[in-house]
Amino acid sequence: MPKGKAHRSSNSDPDFLIGLGALYLAQNLLDPAEEALAKIPSEHNLYGAAAEMQIEIHSRKGNFQELVLLGEELVIRGNNSTWLAAKIGAAYYRLGQTSAAKSFCLESMRDIPDNSEVRGRLRSLRPLNHRPKIEALITGGPEFGISPHVALDCIAPIIWGGRPTSCCFGDQLLSNDSQADQRNFYLEFAAKLYQTFGIFTAFFPYVALNHNQCAPLIKLFFSLDPLVFDRVEDIKQSAWSDFEKQERGSKHRLEYLEKEGALLGYPQCCVKWAQSNRRSNKSIERLALTALIEEEYVCSLEGGEAVPPGLAYFAHEFYPCNPRCPAAEQAGIEIFEHYKKTEALLLDLYCQYVLPLNKAKMYYPESRYVDFVNNFNDSIIRVLKIEEFKKTHQDFDLYREEMSVILKEHPYFENLEALPLVYAMAKQ
Ligand SMILES: [Zn+2]
Repeated sequence: MPKGKAHRSSNSDPDFLIGLGALYLAQNLLDPAEEALAKIPSEHNLYGAAAEMQIEIHSRKGNFQELVLLGEELVIRGNNSTWLAAKIGAAYYRLGQTSAAKSFCLESMRDIPDNSEVRGRLRSLRPLNHRPKIEALITGGPEFGISPHVALDCIAPIIWGGRPTSCCFGDQLLSNDSQADQRNFYLEFAAKLYQTFGIFTAFFPYVALNHNQCAPLIKLFFSLDPLVFDRVEDIKQSAWSDFEKQERGSKHRLEYLEKEGALLGYPQCCVKWAQSNRRSNKSIERLALTALIEEEYVCSLEGGEAVPPGLAYFAHEFYPCNPRCPAAEQAGIEIFEHYKKTEALLLDLYCQYVLPLNKAKMYYPESRYVDFVNNFNDSIIRVLKIEEFKKTHQDFDLYREEMSVILKEHPYFENLEALPLVYAMAKQ
């Protein structure tokens, strides 16, 4: 066989093409990847896999119309993956078709149990009739998915007082390895939490809409009060109705943020601040980080005399309107007082660990929080080290060096607008 012909035939071999497409995609070389994958015929059994890569390419290129067309074709061909539903939902959102976006986004979270289902499951169970030991929460929690941070930040304040309701995101849990049985994982999680601590867990499947993105987001609410189910359902209705209204050109009212803030005991000034900034499409994460850096810089100039902000960061999901917001600091003090009366060990952990970690998460974009949970011990050591620098050095130089190490390890950090401020301050 002439050499040229053999070469041509291997170039059109679907196995070869899909490997090539994957390689290009991994390098973010989108045009050549698209070209290689497009040569795989639709009747070939690798077509589905190739089309999923094309979906990813359309998503990265911002070709939302093409994404929706191909995505719906794959759905008709029997692809019912939650990944695909999330991609189609996000594309519809970017096209301004929020009703279609809603149904695909909800479909992508179909493994999240309904609150009525959770409530029904818990009705058949009885909680243990004694207050658990803090050690049991920390050492036993991981067995059913409670990460150390969620244990101390969300569960402890419910058991030992300080907060009536708390919440975390789904990716803060130590989830099961197989995504296959997520529904059962969540139901088991809620059952264990109720049996062991008497805590009710309500689920809120929604989407993150920051920076013009639309990605599925699951929030879990914890409370000793079974009314939490009704209140979370109300928040869910309100949030999705808001989401859909965007289509008809009305302003995103974000009323659900007020309901959520009231349920979680957040100060009204901070809720209003978050709401109005989100309405005008500003990132509260960035605003809060900038304000924190400014405040810490001012403190560092006083050479360890000033107490840096801390108490306002009483809950991981919460952003204070100002690092020194009196209402937010008061909420932090109330938790402190509760622990002082009930659990000395918990008080220590709260001061040494929960508050510094909540403050430090401001430096970590939410999407990377999962790294934080998975590398927990390294993260906390680094966080405490940075906190020490900020307290004792007047010129921020060591702080800046430490931040540049983080920057090298986590390039996504560069996206934060507040970063140039750190450098500008260090150079002054
Ligand atoms: Zn406030």
